[in-house]
Amino acid sequence: MIQRPLAIRGGLVAFPSEGEVRAADLLIQDGRIAAIVAPGAALPEEAELVGANDRLIMPGLVNAHTHSHLAIAKGVSRAWTLELHLHNGPWTGGGQNLADRHLLAQASAAEMLLKGCTACYDLVLELPQPSPDGMFATAAGYIDAGMRAVVAPMLADRTFWQAIPGLRDALPDHARAEIDTIRMAGVDANLEACERMLREWPHDRLGVRPGLAPTIPLHCSDAFWTGARALANAHGAPMHAHLAESKIQAIAGRARYGMSLTAHLDALGILGPDFTAAHGIWLDDADLELLARRGCSVAHNPSSNFRLGSGIANVPAMVAAGVRVGLGSDACSCSDHQNLFEVMRLACYLSRTASFDPDDWLSPRDVFEMATCGSARALGLHEITGDIRPGLAADLVFLDLGSVNFTPLNDPLYQLVFAEEGRSITRVMVGGRTVVEDGRLTTIDYPALRARLNDRAREIFAANAPRKEMLAAIEPFVKHFCVGLAQGRLELAESVAP
Ligand SMILES: [Zn+2]
Repeated sequence: MIQRPLAIRGGLVAFPSEGEVRAADLLIQDGRIAAIVAPGAALPEEAELVGANDRLIMPGLVNAHTHSHLAIAKGVSRAWTLELHLHNGPWTGGGQNLADRHLLAQASAAEMLLKGCTACYDLVLELPQPSPDGMFATAAGYIDAGMRAVVAPMLADRTFWQAIPGLRDALPDHARAEIDTIRMAGVDANLEACERMLREWPHDRLGVRPGLAPTIPLHCSDAFWTGARALANAHGAPMHAHLAESKIQAIAGRARYGMSLTAHLDALGILGPDFTAAHGIWLDDADLELLARRGCSVAHNPSSNFRLGSGIANVPAMVAAGVRVGLGSDACSCSDHQNLFEVMRLACYLSRTASFDPDDWLSPRDVFEMATCGSARALGLHEITGDIRPGLAADLVFLDLGSVNFTPLNDPLYQLVFAEEGRSITRVMVGGRTVVEDGRLTTIDYPALRARLNDRAREIFAANAPRKEMLAAIEPFVKHFCVGLAQGRLELAESVAP
């Protein structure tokens, strides 16, 4: 369908790369920003007028780290650390079928679009290994919702209990026998599925493209890592992994590899500009220097880090080292929401814990840039989205300046970061197509989606109940071991994690 050009007139426009808000009119042609002109300047007469009086227009936010398979698990996690979250993963994120892939991508997309996010990096888990059809269906869920995404299967050839040195052996015999019934597929079967997914990807890669996510360094053998890197290189697919998310991972990494997780990945040739490290809490100066030198991005997930008690990522130190930073929500099981406004605000506040000198703090401009351009760079979509510039896609969010969050209007950018939570959104466009209007999704039948999600949550969690019970019985042993391990000594440069 050929879309008429659009003339968006009368609004204030927030430009993240310039850190500036000013009045401007936009011409949208073929789904892209064709021109940015002074208010009232001439635009082609055939363009359809989109009135933006009393509106703040910003680029769509980009979620640099989420997991759609866990969109089923809002409000499910208890007082779990990352390790207990992983221990419970087989029931919180397992037992899903192929139809659930599309459903949960739609669930994720619905929440993100309603909250002003137009692209995401989705790390999807299928057990015991990913399937090309599952990833294609996830992608279709985003495409049908009218949202952009990188869809990356989560890869592992070790289970959580095998990944932490000493954990499996520390369990009582009956518990070890139980968790040994849960297995991951081998390296060859995993890589074969990934190769087929990358080769047969059926979707337009400007909309949704494939990536690869060896999920956690300790969960993947070296052969798996190097095999995934070779595939990523051959197919131009970006890579993403959780890196030093918990202190336990950092300690266990040194125990297993005799060096930091970051140094280990670098020794395997994994790090590069197409690599995104999620969390990166327990990194030292040498790690940050390495990530910066290789051009890697970090996906900072402050709400998840709080929810799991993982620690505080020292983002000002990352920025000072030259690491690119994007912002993510992480999964609905470990932050319960996918709200990048909330994430921007938390990122800004948290940076104040790293230094008594306000010059070191992240500014609203910094975190706005991270949640747009920075995340888009992590997705490898920065040539398409994440900013307002001629030539980029018209992925735009309109906010009502009459809302309580912007009243009185003193500083739109400060109020966007410190006051907004998504309630002021009136319209969301992706590629010039309106996907949210007056607070409603135009691409998704939300009542039907809601009904199916509630049904599937009931069915899946009922079917997973025996596994939940089995894991709950073993949880005290895992907790005891992990709490002990986390109290171990970790030599990190003083300036980084507390
Ligand atoms: Zn994650």
